[in-house]
Amino acid sequence: MPAWLFGAASRAFAIGFETPFLFMKKLFVFTLACLLVSEVSGAERFADKFVWIFGWSLENDSDVPEISRILETAGKHRLNGAVVSFGIDTLCKKSPEYFQRLSQIKKSCDDNHLELIPSIFSVGYGGGALSHNRNLAEGLSVEDAPFLVKQGEGHLAETRAVEFKNGGFEEFSGNNAQGFDFCDQPGEISFVDTQIRHSGKAALRLEKFTANQHGHGRVMQSIKVLPHRCYRVSVWAKTENLEPANAFHLQVLAGDRALAPRDFHVLGSTDWRKLSMLFNSMDLDKVSLYAGLWGGKAGKLWLDDWTVEEVGPVNVLHRPGTPVTVRNEDGSVAYTEGKDYAPLQDPQLNPFKDDTEALPLKVLPGGRIREGERLRVSWYHSMLINDSQVTVCMAEPELYEIFDHEAKLLAEHLQPRSVLLNTDEIRMGGTCRACKGRNMGELLGECVTKQAAILRDHIPSVEVYIWSDMFDPNHNAHGKYYLVDGDFTDSWKHVPKNLIMAVWGGEPREASLHFFADQGFRTLVACYYDAPDLKDVEGWLQIARQTRKVRGFMYTPWEKKYDLLADFGDLLRKPAAAAATASPPSATPSGP
Ligand SMILES: [Zn+2]
Repeated sequence: MPAWLFGAASRAFAIGFETPFLFMKKLFVFTLACLLVSEVSGAERFADKFVWIFGWSLENDSDVPEISRILETAGKHRLNGAVVSFGIDTLCKKSPEYFQRLSQIKKSCDDNHLELIPSIFSVGYGGGALSHNRNLAEGLSVEDAPFLVKQGEGHLAETRAVEFKNGGFEEFSGNNAQGFDFCDQPGEISFVDTQIRHSGKAALRLEKFTANQHGHGRVMQSIKVLPHRCYRVSVWAKTENLEPANAFHLQVLAGDRALAPRDFHVLGSTDWRKLSMLFNSMDLDKVSLYAGLWGGKAGKLWLDDWTVEEVGPVNVLHRPGTPVTVRNEDGSVAYTEGKDYAPLQDPQLNPFKDDTEALPLKVLPGGRIREGERLRVSWYHSMLINDSQVTVCMAEPELYEIFDHEAKLLAEHLQPRSVLLNTDEIRMGGTCRACKGRNMGELLGECVTKQAAILRDHIPSVEVYIWSDMFDPNHNAHGKYYLVDGDFTDSWKHVPKNLIMAVWGGEPREASLHFFADQGFRTLVACYYDAPDLKDVEGWLQIARQTRKVRGFMYTPWEKKYDLLADFGDLLRKPAAAAATASPPSATPSGP
């Protein structure tokens, strides 16, 4: 309660000669004033009212008017910041046209009273750093793969062939395909189809998924693998009215671990298409290959010509933390790069593709490696996650040189008052020589601490926001996270307390907001998430009003859905009582 009101109340009580009626009337007016003030301060307590601008690159002229329209709406509805993610951490790669468009966006922000807040320096989605050096991708190790030198080139030698049985579904009896550990409900969900097939005389068809209580329509075979080797799985797939199409997965599982968390964006109806992915066997000697539907509802899927093979150096990385080693067959002689063999380095390296051919190991004339010699070759390769995610290694010093050089450019071009660090969903780490054995929570903390220090070197007063998930034990700050070897627990203890955590949802994460407040962090609620309405946002608002250290809100779409932006802005300004129409929010995390 403001001091002046408290003073007025004291005075009312002190004035003893007033009639009870007059006193009651004054008390009523006073109570009303109290309520009004608390509502106004409830509405105005949020310093940050941001919009997340996502899905544009500023590589096209049309990006500017599209974004500007959103900025206008944001301004009209009293938002005060636009957090933008269009490659502002790769400024050294940008064209003059990009900078023209950037200055138009800056002007549009100024005209609409919005602070321009760049989102930068991603690690999990390493595209920015990788556009400087693609070898900075985090690597998984292949150890002592046998090579044979022929005609001056070493290639993966015939090793024990992978025993994957009946991938063409040619052997069957009735609807039972042989060699598989299981097909879901043969004759009911899984069928051998001799009419529609990719090659040979049969394919496997999966349909009527609702005949399984989980919507399963899967086929699985376990295979033996050699530890620390790289394998490629390919399968031909065809679909017809498949629903939902994103229920399709090609999986390599070992216990509860997914070794190839890929997403192929298969369409509901599509002709035969070859799907292909890599996996690293880690320290395992047996894995289970799955294909099919999890949570299928309708339509049909055909599978055919499914293969698994060990591959040589595909997406091989070449940086200090990912050395290539080449030795003779018994390991007693280590050969020298540049003398005995040419660097095993791909000038066309593209970690965003995983269907490329293996590189040959080129033997150098005058070196010690002989024609016909058997070798043991070790290297590191990158991994693609989902359809476009490649994580970079946080322990490689070059990463911070890139951040520094880009922070300098950021200061020269924009001098932002605030930035958002894109440190979310770090799905690899702890596996290359630079980071292996590191405490991942500590390494992540070090990475972010350096990022913030680099930014403040160039922009001393910059306020730093950061995605919260990797610092939230209720979210992704734990062990057993994707392909990470290590545990992110306690990451939150290794970062500066003056960071502002951008807590994301979906459904409201009450536990997360409280956790960060207890740890001494300020928070920004990054909500909405392309929902059909603002019910979850209302839930977040309710919690935020009762939680310490919440600085504000960000309208956060991932699919360019800005239709509810105006309502969002208005909702933030509504008094608490009018805004709180939602039912009590659930605290269940809804992220990955
Ligand atoms: Zn690493």
